[in-house]
Amino acid sequence: MELLIAGAKELRITLAPEHLAAFRITYEELVSWNQKFNLTAITDYEGVQVRHFLDSLSCLPAMEYHERLTDQRVIDVGTGAGFPGIPLKIVRPGLRLTLLEATEKKVIFLRHLVQRLGLEGVTVLHGRAEELGQATAHRERYDWAVARAVAEMPILAEYLLPLVKIGGRALAQKGENAPAEVHRAERAITRLGGHVRRLMPVELHGLAETRYLVLVDKVAATAAQYPRRPGIPSKRPLGSKG
Ligand code: SAH
Repeated sequence: MELLIAGAKELRITLAPEHLAAFRITYEELVSWNQKFNLTAITDYEGVQVRHFLDSLSCLPAMEYHERLTDQRVIDVGTGAGFPGIPLKIVRPGLRLTLLEATEKKVIFLRHLVQRLGLEGVTVLHGRAEELGQATAHRERYDWAVARAVAEMPILAEYLLPLVKIGGRALAQKGENAPAEVHRAERAITRLGGHVRRLMPVELHGLAETRYLVLVDKVAATAAQYPRRPGIPSKRPLGSKG
């Protein structure tokens, strides 16, 4: 786990032996389940350390800029094999994590992994963001809604912002197109009660490309019509013509 340790240090995150043990288990489970289940394209030891674990942890400095994550409610939308949610929970066990994923085989893996790691305060949900955003128990209940590699910004905003309480934040992990994507999504974000706070470039140890964190404040309630029915946000993204 040398790459992870070095990269975390650059992010000013200290990894204790128990964190490293948990990352090692996660790596082993991911590789072993991937043989049957095709959970992720990245399974080489270095790739998992940098592109999955470290990239997930790169959210932390931005999320803890104002206050610690302890007791905060965080939902990871379209978490896949658990990214960024699981690494965040490993290093900040006090946060209350909900993992949302639409694909059942990934949900089965996540339930296994959470149990294997002995993580407490994690809820794994099989479903779609469009449904959860209209459910009273989840709508505007989270301090943070995070996502990586799920959808383009206008679509993602409709998945994330309805879940965030006023005063909370959405965080999207994006690649090099982030500035243009955010610009195109500005109207959609405003319509959903959000306000773009920061677009932060992130350099990761051992990774050539620049990554971006898009931080959006939830400043107003989301209108009841959002999110629209499953499939509609991606078919007719907000703010596009027609
Ligand atoms: N966040 C993970 C997985 C990215 S792949 C990572 O970065 O590694 C995108 C995942 O989002 C897929 O597993 C897909 O099933 C899920 N997904 C896409 N749209 C979704 C939606 N509307 N609601 C819930 N999950 C969704």
